[in-house]
Amino acid sequence: MELRLHNTLTRSKDGFRPLDPLNVRMYVCGPTVYDHAHIGNARPVIVFDVLFRLLRRLYGEAHVKYVRNITDVDDKINARAADRGISIRDLTEETYRWFREDTAAIGCLPPTVEPRATEHIAEMRALIEKLVAAGHAYVAQEHVLFNVPSMPDYGQLSRRPLDEMIAGARVDVAPYKRDPMDFVLWKPSDVGVPGWESPCGIKTPGRPGWHIECSAMSWRHLGETFDIHGGGIDLVFPHHENEIAQSRCAFHTGVMAQMWLHNGFLMLEGEKMSKSLGNFVTIRELLEEWPGEVLRLAMLSTHYRQPINWTRQGLGFAAKTLDKWYRVVGEVEAEGGEGNPFEHEIAERLSDDLNTPSAIAHLHHLAEVAEHEETSSALRRRFKGAANLLGLLGDTEDGWRARAKAAIALDEGVIAGLIAERLAARKAKDFKRADQIREELAAKGIVLMDNKDGTTSWEVAR
Ligand SMILES: [Zn+2]
Repeated sequence: MELRLHNTLTRSKDGFRPLDPLNVRMYVCGPTVYDHAHIGNARPVIVFDVLFRLLRRLYGEAHVKYVRNITDVDDKINARAADRGISIRDLTEETYRWFREDTAAIGCLPPTVEPRATEHIAEMRALIEKLVAAGHAYVAQEHVLFNVPSMPDYGQLSRRPLDEMIAGARVDVAPYKRDPMDFVLWKPSDVGVPGWESPCGIKTPGRPGWHIECSAMSWRHLGETFDIHGGGIDLVFPHHENEIAQSRCAFHTGVMAQMWLHNGFLMLEGEKMSKSLGNFVTIRELLEEWPGEVLRLAMLSTHYRQPINWTRQGLGFAAKTLDKWYRVVGEVEAEGGEGNPFEHEIAERLSDDLNTPSAIAHLHHLAEVAEHEETSSALRRRFKGAANLLGLLGDTEDGWRARAKAAIALDEGVIAGLIAERLAARKAKDFKRADQIREELAAKGIVLMDNKDGTTSWEVAR
């Protein structure tokens, strides 16, 4: 089985060959912790969790290191803490706790390391001083800036035309820049804003620019070069381009990461998600209405590189699918990786640039196969093991799963019989009995829906 991934750096689907198969290393840009994460933020978290699971499956759990940082120093954080009248530490701690709870609820494994920017200031200073010493950065008015023209092949990842990059950089024009494209590595902090000892002999305390954080944390935890760097497509320019410039120029290497993976945008009901348009939804708001696993399956139903259109209808489909799959697996234990042919078939589909829609289509097929098995539970155990590779049908308990299990205990034939009895009661205008049946089923976690055509369907309550 060969893992092939679409590499933004080469614009092609490349075979994945780790620098060291005993130490496969992946870095993904994490959240800036100042508010609840929105559903767009959940996309890279889920996508790279699937890749993390697949890499563990292919190289062994002990041989994969996944680093996802936490940006806990940022002007948005400072402003929000001041607005709320709380300390920066309290704000970042609270927000980080929400993020951990939300990502656990959508079935994501914790990364191997979750480094915080504020705990890596010394590495950032060291990197900045290396860049200044090598002539790639300079000090101006207590700032340190990266000098873009000092790197002849700057721009390989985004491949943007030079005039476009200059136009983008002009937004942030400052008199101390030697070149309009130069970007900030370090800046001075005013009184009342977090500040640390500055590099390069600058007297005023200061704080890092955003890009340098990721170069410092990936260096500390993964080394000068590593295998995979991931994030949302919106990070390609300038963030990832600038990470590459910093790391390659500091360490004199040809690449920062061998492969760069980017997930596509998320649209909400066909429109761009925007706070100002009120078209905005947090993971937490969705979790109040749907189990996390439904969000996960809905997200994975679109290939990670495609834009995803996030709709209530999509969530409804995912919920129905999971209801069915939980009925199929019942109480069986999952059959683990090696030797489970179903799981192997899913791993093969994921190895083709994380083709989750194909993997999910195959799970539908496997569910049919397992459902019709009457003699033993072997196929159902295999089906469950295959779904586990996508982080689905896991054994952690939550309310919805408990209710789904209660529904499984209720024979489908019994439910159908009660529905027929209720329809007959309604026909005979015995509404008391009809309501009684509805309540009886509701108590067991079954919700009835009366359709326009006079039939009644049911689903497991959420
Ligand atoms: Zn980053």
